[in-house]
Amino acid sequence: MSMAESSPAIRLTDIYKSFGPVQANRGASLEVAAGEIHALVGENGAGKSTLMRVLSGMYAPDSGRMEVFGRDVTGWRTAEAIDAGVGMVHQHFMLVPTLTVAENVMLGRELTKNGQLDRERAEREVAELSRATGLAVRADRTVADLSVGEAQRVEILKTLYRGARILILDEPTAVLSPPEIDELWQVLRQVRARGETIVLITHKLDEVMEISDTITVMRNGRTVARLRTAETRPAEIAKAMVGRDVQLAMHYIDEVRGADTAARTHLPPSAPLLEVRDLLVEDARRLTAVNGVSFSVAPGEILGIAGVEGNGQTELLEALAGLRDVRGGRIAIASRDITRLTVKARGDAGLSHIPEDRHARGLILDYSVAENLILGQQHRFTRGVRIDQERIHENARRQIAAYDIRPVDPQLPARALSGGNQQKIVIAREMGRAFQVLLAAQPTRGVDVGAIEFIHARLRDARDAGKAILLVSADLAEILALSDRIAVMYGGRLVTVLPRAEASEEVLGPYMTGAATEHAA
Ligand code: ADP
Ligand code: MG
Repeated sequence: MSMAESSPAIRLTDIYKSFGPVQANRGASLEVAAGEIHALVGENGAGKSTLMRVLSGMYAPDSGRMEVFGRDVTGWRTAEAIDAGVGMVHQHFMLVPTLTVAENVMLGRELTKNGQLDRERAEREVAELSRATGLAVRADRTVADLSVGEAQRVEILKTLYRGARILILDEPTAVLSPPEIDELWQVLRQVRARGETIVLITHKLDEVMEISDTITVMRNGRTVARLRTAETRPAEIAKAMVGRDVQLAMHYIDEVRGADTAARTHLPPSAPLLEVRDLLVEDARRLTAVNGVSFSVAPGEILGIAGVEGNGQTELLEALAGLRDVRGGRIAIASRDITRLTVKARGDAGLSHIPEDRHARGLILDYSVAENLILGQQHRFTRGVRIDQERIHENARRQIAAYDIRPVDPQLPARALSGGNQQKIVIAREMGRAFQVLLAAQPTRGVDVGAIEFIHARLRDARDAGKAILLVSADLAEILALSDRIAVMYGGRLVTVLPRAEASEEVLGPYMTGAATEHAA
């Protein structure tokens, strides 16, 4: 395609955007040809979301030039961007939960007949668009009843319904299960086939390689590389993202993956540090979510629990952590029964917990980084009846350095940090205390490659230091990369438990979808 003949869909030149002292974009550029799927990649905090919010009119740039289909649109507002066909699907959804799918899609562009909302026509149009794009949604369902994946489809549909010719998706797969991710790729390919342009923000290299045509890499607010997907390799992208060579152990070097765990399959028998027997747990609607689960984790072992989300993993972890009541069964740490202990007493007994939802459970976003680094452990930082501010700061300085938390400012509210850096706070806190058993739920969700590498290394260190680790992850590659044994959870049960050497995506897949069952003790 010749750039000279037709203007690109997007051309952003030398964009600057600051938030107070934080320079989120400092000379960022982006050029995307019409009809392409373009991956905008970079580590957390690189300035990707900010650049796309500038393009979609949510923020005015401090300086720089913006063109869309050859027209100068510098500093336009959201409404103008939408009218011109630039639509952004956000990381956090903006749907009205009490309205139906059709009503949400129509919102802001209501069709009326004699002053009344023309619901029938709207539902028909939504159904047509849904067919044309492969975005399967049921127009009459209430949004509150939808899964996260379905809600995302509605967001995309809504954006297309408003006539988007440029669709911007900000880390859309962070909330999706593997089958939902495959569906999303199909949808994006169909949208591209209609001639629309797509910008996909992601930091997952396998996604970049699978779906994109072209790539822009950002680092520290600047554009550092433009690549054609067919002409590059993951290692090259990763290097541009972090500015140095990265060990891509997880997704790309299968041999390393196998070798690391093969040596560890014959562990010496030792008394388990975590023991769970016949555990029964109910979900929020009082339905059985964990249905008689038993397993144990030995010192120096990572037990991975694989499975599609929503099969009881969340409830299992919450029950183990003391955040949810147990209806039956027993939990023990180093032979001590902790089934009825409080969260704090479990911590004292040697349990640490990296929660699945860092916003709901792991952090208080308005508290400072230093305060978040001691949450739940405040009693360790008192002198007499006084809080010892000096030790809190000393702890923060140490942890910020050890876990490479950026920006280096213990006083910043956690809210001001990127997702990856917020997760590092949680991990630094939970792994920085004395513990014997670590519950790690989705430890690298929404985290960039450099940080994933770092977090995985810390988990392996803890394993090698003799801790027992229960790893729950919807990312099968992560489970395979780290675990010594792998269990699959389906329908509230562990349907198989295998040594790492016997597990692979092909072996585990049928258990994850319920196609195979071998009820394991
Ligand atoms: P990315 O999407 O690449 O992770 P962002 O564009 O979200 O990066 O953030 C870039 C930097 O700007 C980060 O340091 C982030 O903390 C900061 N930042 C982003 N939005 C705001 C905001 N509304 N207020 C203050 N700082 C912000
Ligand atoms: Mg972002």
